[in-house]
Amino acid sequence: MGEVERADHQEAEAVVRRLSALQAVGDVAFEYARLQDLLPAMLQRIQAVFGVDNVAILLPTEDESELTLYSVHGPEEAVMGKVHVPMGQGVAGTIAASRKPLFVENLTTVPVANRFLQEHFRSLLGVPLVAGGRLIGVIHIDSIEPRCFTEEDSQLLQAVAERIAVAISRAQQYENERQALLDAERQVAVLQETTRRMDEFLGIASHELRTPLTSLTMNLHMLDFWLVSAQGKRQGETTADYLNRAAERVKPIIERSRQSAKRLDRLVGDLLEAMRIREHRLALIVQPCDLVSVAREMIIEQRQTHPGRVIELEGVIREPLIVQGDAERIGQVITNYLSNALKYSQADQVVRVVLAREEGQARVAVCDQGIGIPTSEQGHIWERFYQVAEIEHQSGSAVGLGLGLYISQEIIARHGGQVGVESAPKEGSTFWFTLPLSEATTAAHG
Ligand code: ADP
Repeated sequence: MGEVERADHQEAEAVVRRLSALQAVGDVAFEYARLQDLLPAMLQRIQAVFGVDNVAILLPTEDESELTLYSVHGPEEAVMGKVHVPMGQGVAGTIAASRKPLFVENLTTVPVANRFLQEHFRSLLGVPLVAGGRLIGVIHIDSIEPRCFTEEDSQLLQAVAERIAVAISRAQQYENERQALLDAERQVAVLQETTRRMDEFLGIASHELRTPLTSLTMNLHMLDFWLVSAQGKRQGETTADYLNRAAERVKPIIERSRQSAKRLDRLVGDLLEAMRIREHRLALIVQPCDLVSVAREMIIEQRQTHPGRVIELEGVIREPLIVQGDAERIGQVITNYLSNALKYSQADQVVRVVLAREEGQARVAVCDQGIGIPTSEQGHIWERFYQVAEIEHQSGSAVGLGLGLYISQEIIARHGGQVGVESAPKEGSTFWFTLPLSEATTAAHG
């Protein structure tokens, strides 16, 4: 073999070696479906094929304003997560914007966005990653020693880049599809949970609605028995005497019926209110409103409904606490807190309403000494239809759909206030809310 032939032969062998190495780079794309697994393997092979010190791939951010280091094989790993190259600037930014290969023989002579390149490498060759006409990113190979990358190196790197771009784009597509599938699965789970809660709610609602209805129906029977059919009439008793006696008998029946009707009214009212909140139709009539008088009124009402229970009013009660708000709605929140406090504590336990003024806010707290709420449940009780599992009301009439706190929270939020609870099992609960005090009140009291 002559000198020239040998040289040609050697060159041909080198090309074959590189091509097969390239093939190896391309093959990696089929071995890994996930981008995170695919890139490190590819970069490792590229480093070996080109005999360089560092290989890096940068991908554009979602808004395509800059490139970030996505995968590195080599010393540049040290700045992973810290590199942000604006499009059109630095080495990678220029390659991305121009979509052309770039060879830099001496990195100290060009402006860079990532100073690590200048400090650690001398020569660089970079090409854009393009698939289906779309810029996928940038790849560059770097050498610590000065190196004159050849036209052939550039063409080989472009050939590699083509495969990588396709692989990344395919993996991104796979990732997007996987994400879409996960989202769909999550939505199905949410729907199933909603359906489960809806079923549970329907169960509770039917039970809650039926209890007062059954009592109303029974009471109507009794009224019919005594008044309409006069079946309680004794032999020889005059109609006038009977009616007097019947009136005494039916009085408590009427009172119980009134209570049942009230319970039904509250349940249906809660349902309507929750619906209004969902549809953003909760109307507020906002005007100056004194929290001390509202609290007082609500306490009087609850004392009447629960004779025998002790409800105390404490704190700032000798001067008005004026807020801008809908007195009726705020009263509704206090009533909700109060009826829960009464419901979830024993009949002999005191319930306290404490009013305070703090940093431009009025604070209303309802404290009971009842069963309390585990910390894990405290975040959930404000959700629609949520009731703590296996909790029995402790006294009074059990009425509730798990809507009271949801409605309370919405009302207070609409007033620009906050709600909260402090509680521990068997140690009672303090449900509170704060509302911004009216400027006049804040000024008067500093
Ligand atoms: P409900 O109408 O069922 O009482 P709420 O929304 O008012 O619905 O309350 C949600 C849940 O929070 C209740 O079912 C109960 O488990 C718990 N809870 C509320 N207030 C208290 C309290 N003062 N003490 C203990 N648990 C309470």
